[in-house]
Amino acid sequence: HMPVVAIVGRPNVGKSTLVNRILGRREAVVEDIPGVTRDRVSYAASWSGRRFTVVDTGGWEPDAKGLQQAVAAQAELAMRTADAIVVVVDATVGATATDEAVARVLRRSKTPVILCANKVDSERLESDTASLWSLGLGEPYPVSAAHGRGAGDLLDIILDKL
Ligand code: GDP
Ligand code: MG
Repeated sequence: HMPVVAIVGRPNVGKSTLVNRILGRREAVVEDIPGVTRDRVSYAASWSGRRFTVVDTGGWEPDAKGLQQAVAAQAELAMRTADAIVVVVDATVGATATDEAVARVLRRSKTPVILCANKVDSERLESDTASLWSLGLGEPYPVSAAHGRGAGDLLDIILDKL
């Protein structure tokens, strides 16, 4: 089957923006207000001549109770159904309690996990990523999904794990 890459993480970290960056077109719904993305949406993608499926996750209401459980459940589902998992964190905010809840799930993943430190829009912001080692998910890869910075390197790393 076509390898599946699941993009997980709490609302508003830039998952859908990253999906659009991977696709090279705008299809995933990007919103300043979290909760707009449908639950799980799959797209056909390719990089370096390799084809794969990318799954955007989300679907939480802004006022949803149990947000941490909902995000953790998506991570659990990704562990069962994906061939690689990209967990996105907002490097300008740092690790939140929800990020830590997701990391707790993903630390026991047998599926490869890639930690994407998003919103690193300039070199100056790269130092913000160091604190994300605390999530216990290995090296945080700095990316600006919005501007494309680091996206090619991230895709190379994702494909390495497939
Ligand atoms: P999602 O809820 O995780 O899918 O996040 P979205 O992709 O909808 O993005 C949430 C907000 O973060 C939007 O306002 C985006 O424009 C913004 N955003 C996403 N990626 C970046 C980035 O690399 N840099 C900056 N500065 N903003 C970003
Ligand atoms: Mg989204």
